[in-house]
Amino acid sequence: MRTISENQISELVASLFLSCAYCVTDDVSNAVEAALISEESPAGKAALAQILENHKIAREQHLPICQDTGMAVVFAKVGCGCVIDGDFAAAVNAGVRRAYSEGYLRKSVVADPLFERRNTKDNTPTIIHLELVPGDGLELTVTAKGFGSENMSAIKMLSPSDGVGGVIDFVVDTVGKAGPNPCPPVIVGVGIGGTMEYAALLAKQAAIRNVGSRNEDERYAKLEDELLRRINCLGIGPAGTGGRTTALGVNVLFAPTHIAGLPVAVNICCHAARHAKGSI
Ligand code: SF4
Repeated sequence: MRTISENQISELVASLFLSCAYCVTDDVSNAVEAALISEESPAGKAALAQILENHKIAREQHLPICQDTGMAVVFAKVGCGCVIDGDFAAAVNAGVRRAYSEGYLRKSVVADPLFERRNTKDNTPTIIHLELVPGDGLELTVTAKGFGSENMSAIKMLSPSDGVGGVIDFVVDTVGKAGPNPCPPVIVGVGIGGTMEYAALLAKQAAIRNVGSRNEDERYAKLEDELLRRINCLGIGPAGTGGRTTALGVNVLFAPTHIAGLPVAVNICCHAARHAKGSI
């Protein structure tokens, strides 16, 4: 059995959140650069150029990409052959606390969602999703989720008879209603199947899959293409200024579901797409 200490976990969590606060991943930068060439709207082009400039300044000067530095979400793949020496959640929260303090990142979490809404002042607690996997390592994928885009998420329990057309209509309608609010160009994560909460989890994981990656199932890859085409005909455009680049990509993940249902969830990620992966 391999032992992984609380300290190792909090170090990794802190470094991942610090790096993603300042640097979007290459897939996102490349997609924005490609959109700058293909976008036809002058206002849309100008918005894309500003987004690229913002990414560059953030990367070079170690400044947050956006003032909303997000709620911390961690996906942990824990090897069955490892022992966590201590409290896993406490270690993750210590890492988040350190990153948001050392990086001067805005603390955006309130302890009670409805009544007092008092800021916890260290951006914890972290949303943690655990998965047990073979092996003796620990892999962490973190994302700092801004709520301009998170608030535009939606879920619907479709009927199986709604089929592909029903899924497309729901996803396109959700992005259309969101308009400029999620800071387009966006990455649209779609979860299909499972149960209500599992579809939402799939949508979140889909939203942080690399832009330009394709679903391995050709039917779902074609669905991604069609959704991207339809969304980019909405005319919302970069920063909502009009144009063809409303979304940089649409990623779909799917899972088995019940014979009586067709759950569909949409999670939107803004152009400040902050996620990072590391392992111990
Ligand atoms: S949606 Fe994204 S880019 Fe817009 S304010 Fe929130 S974090 Fe920033």
